[in-house]
Amino acid sequence: MQPSDLPAPVNRIVCPECGNDKEFYEIAENAVITTNYTQNEDGSFTPEEDNSQILGEIKLICGQCGKDLSIFHQRFSEMLF
Ligand SMILES: [Zn+2]
Repeated sequence: MQPSDLPAPVNRIVCPECGNDKEFYEIAENAVITTNYTQNEDGSFTPEEDNSQILGEIKLICGQCGKDLSIFHQRFSEMLF
């Protein structure tokens, strides 16, 4: 058996539209980013804490053709190390 006969990893995500399997991006549709500040004696501000909260859906998008690949998003999350 040749090494090339070995099956490819089954859990690779491939865009059904353009075949891209390398570049993907994630879009958070509705995110609220809250930053807390403390005002100092001299009137300047110091950021205390960043808080981002994602309220909407998170989409996975093909980096080549822009197709919505959200159906793969769960798998994508599981394969994120
Ligand atoms: Zn694509």
